Amino acid sequence: MRSTHPDVLIVGAGPTGLAAALLLAHRRVAVRIIDTARVAATTSKALAVNSRTLEMLQSTGVSDQIVSEGWPVRGATLHEDGHDVLAFDLPPAQDARSLMTVLPQARTEALLAKALAAKGVTVERGVTFQSLSQDLTEVTATLQHADGGAEQVTSRLLFGADGARSATRAALKLDFPGSGLAEPWLLWDVAMQTSFDLDRAHILFERDGFIFLLRLADDVWRVIGNTHDPLATLRRYGSLGQVSWESQFHVSHRVASQAGVGRVALGGDAAHIHSPIGARGMNLGIEDAYVYADCAADALAGDMGRMNDYAALRHAVHKSVVRRIGALTRMVHGRPPWLRWIRDGVVPVAGHLSFARQLMMRTAGGLDHPLKTRR
Ligand SMILES: Cc1cc2nc3c(=O)[nH]c(=O)nc-3n(C[C@H](O)[C@H](O)[C@H](O)COP(=O)(O)OP(=O)(O)OC[C@H]3O[C@@H](n4cnc5c(N)ncnc54)[C@H](O)[C@@H]3O)c2cc1C
Repeated sequence: MRSTHPDVLIVGAGPTGLAAALLLAHRRVAVRIIDTARVAATTSKALAVNSRTLEMLQSTGVSDQIVSEGWPVRGATLHEDGHDVLAFDLPPAQDARSLMTVLPQARTEALLAKALAAKGVTVERGVTFQSLSQDLTEVTATLQHADGGAEQVTSRLLFGADGARSATRAALKLDFPGSGLAEPWLLWDVAMQTSFDLDRAHILFERDGFIFLLRLADDVWRVIGNTHDPLATLRRYGSLGQVSWESQFHVSHRVASQAGVGRVALGGDAAHIHSPIGARGMNLGIEDAYVYADCAADALAGDMGRMNDYAALRHAVHKSVVRRIGALTRMVHGRPPWLRWIRDGVVPVAGHLSFARQLMMRTAGGLDHPLKTRR
């Protein structure tokens, strides 16, 4: 039954909110999770689940399901002018699993929601968070139901996992400073018969930008690129079939000015956004959820200082990861031309250096910073 006084109200049932709800329910914390969308998302979006995410979700049983449904990425190959100029292998993580497992985000979300339902918590859909107020003991949120009814919920804590345009972040009056790239990035999920190695990610450095390729399943590939016509380029490498998803997006690198205020915290895209290079968006959100569950459980037991731990620890991680992914993105996307000349000359050489290879591996596995739940 729905509690009007949950310990934690979670706003948003993307991967961040679902993971937070599951990890809190695992600790027997009473949660409610709401989402404005009437149905669960079906688009593939984030494809790679990294080894740290598997480690954090291990106790819930979801990691084993992700590994059995997905496939392990063996490495990445860089191509220039039709030639392989750098090959970079991903060794298994410490638990012998791949540093990256490919599974479309909609499937990862479905597995999290199923595990959550097994704990007796279902996502309340068609429910929109509108505003909040808080005092020293509780948070009061105003929710709008799709049938027109309004509701006020009082909880001890609130977790805003409501995505890049977060209403929770706006309610806290927090800034979301950063910058964006001018050009749109194009995205397809497209069937392709190709000579590219199926078990690897591929990056094509082109004169007017880059094209990134990763196989989703069977013969369907995710293509992301900023060149004039990425699909025309790919026809040089094979034949293209049906497009199952087509989109375009603008890349921004932004971090919320704080990751929490008092009894309200932010996680996932509500707190940080960056380019998909490095496949960190969804994984970093699930990491927020993991740290949040640990801090919130202690806060509910009386140690409110743990909410300050969450805000301080995660803000530092968000800033450093977004800075690193921003630098990687500026290097790869190949604009303006002087940066492309550096990219084409430096990356194939630097990529052989042990330091650069270690950095790439740590970034791919989500292991480029320690997983800290305490200051
Ligand atoms: C086109 C596209 C391609 C991408 N590709 C990749 C990729 O290849 N690799 C990668 O790592 N990442 C990728 N991402 C990013 C990744 O999908 C996000 O980082 C991830 O979804 C963040 O999860 P989240 O739970 O924090 O937020 P979201 O997934 O955005 O979920 C937020 C949820 O909150 C709900 N919500 C919003 N406002 C309210 C409200 N007021 N009240 C109640 N509910 C609300 C929304 O309906 C939504 O379900 C991609 C994103 C897009 C859009």
